[in-house]
Amino acid sequence: MSLRVGVIGTGMIGQDHIRRLTKVLPGCTITAVSDVDGDRAAKIAAGLGAQVFPTGEALIASGDVEALVVTSTGATHAPYVLAAIAAGKPVFCEKPLATTQADCRAIMAAEVAHGKRLVQVGFMRRFDAGYRAMKRVIAAGKIGAPLLFHSVHRNASVPPGYSNDMMLNDTCVHDIDIARFLIEDEVAAVTVKAARHSGNTRPDLADPTLVLLEMAGGALVDIEISVFIGYGYDIRGEVSGETGTVSLAETSPVIVKSAGQYAGEIGADWRERFIDAYDEELRAWLFAAAEGTATGPSVWDGYAATAVTDAALAARTTGEWQAIAMAEKPGLYQ
Ligand code: NAP
Repeated sequence: MSLRVGVIGTGMIGQDHIRRLTKVLPGCTITAVSDVDGDRAAKIAAGLGAQVFPTGEALIASGDVEALVVTSTGATHAPYVLAAIAAGKPVFCEKPLATTQADCRAIMAAEVAHGKRLVQVGFMRRFDAGYRAMKRVIAAGKIGAPLLFHSVHRNASVPPGYSNDMMLNDTCVHDIDIARFLIEDEVAAVTVKAARHSGNTRPDLADPTLVLLEMAGGALVDIEISVFIGYGYDIRGEVSGETGTVSLAETSPVIVKSAGQYAGEIGADWRERFIDAYDEELRAWLFAAAEGTATGPSVWDGYAATAVTDAALAARTTGEWQAIAMAEKPGLYQ
C-alpha cells in the first residue's frame, strides 16, 4: 500500500525531499502539494501528477492526504503541525519545529492530548551512520561516561540572505541537537563568544563563533561555527570520556598520495554530506507514518532545540552564561 503524502513548502529542501520520496524511497505517493508561491507549487505538482492546494490547511484537510511533509519557511511550521495533529495525520516537519517556545509547547500539548506521537522533526544527523556509531560506542561503555563533546560546523560559504542569528538558530541548532542525542542529557546553560573576525567572511557576521553548552549532568560541549571557511563543508565531532574518546571518521571517499603528501576530498554541499542521513530519516518516517505514528526526533527534541537557541541568542547579547528553563518532560517523550 502506498502512503498518500502531501507536501507543504516546495522550496529547496521541499524539492529535495520530494525527489527522495519519489525516486529513492519506496512506500508513498505524493498526492498533494501547496506553497505560498502557487506557480512553484503548480510546476512541482505537474511533474508529480499531484493536486495543488491553495493553502496548507486545505491540503491537510484533504481526504487524499494521509500524512504530511512540512518544508515551508520555519516561522510557518506551527499552524500546519497543529492542524495535522488535529486531523490525526502523521507529519514530518523540517527543523525548526517552531520558532517560538510558546508554539513548541502548544504543539507538545496537542500531541500529548492526542495520546501518541504523530510528529517527527527533521534533525537528520541522528540518522547519520557516523553519529549513530559514536552513540553505540558510548552506550557500550567503551569510553566511560562522556565528559566533553567537541563539535565543529564549518560551511564553505553561506547565501546572501543568511543572518547572524542564523549562525545560532539555523546552523548551530544541528550541533545542539546532536549533543543532546550523544550525551543523552539536556542543556542547562549556554554561552556564546565570537572570535577575532575572520578576514574571509562578511562584515556583518560574527564569524567564527564559539558556543559552549553545560549539560545538566555537568558534561561540557564546545561548538565551532564557521560559515565562510572556504575549503568545504566540514563536520567534525569528538566525545571525550573517562577512559577513551570517540570521533567521527573522515568522510573522503579517496585518499590521494602524491608528491610527498597525502590528501582527501571535502565537498562543499551539506546535502551531499548528509545525503544518506536525509534518506534514512524519511525512510524511518514512512515506516512509522504508515502505522499512524512517528519515530526519531520528537516534539520534545524540537522544543529543547528552540529553548537552547533562544538562550544562545540572549547569551550572545549579554556575554553571560544563560540558564535554560525547560518545561517538565511529558511521559510521551520519556
Ligand atoms: P525555501 O527554499 O525558502 O523554501 C520554503 C518554501 O516555503 C518556499 O517556496 C516559500 O515560498 C514557501 N512558504 C513560505 N511561507 C509559506 C506558507 N505559509 N505556506 C506554504 N509555503 C510557504 O527554504 P528551505 O531552505 O527549503 O527551508 C525550508 C525549511 O527546511 C526551513 O525550516 C529550514 O530551516 C529547513 N531546512 C532544514 C535543513 C536540514 O538540514 N534539516 C536544511 C535546509 C532547510 P516563498 O519563497 O514564496 O516564501
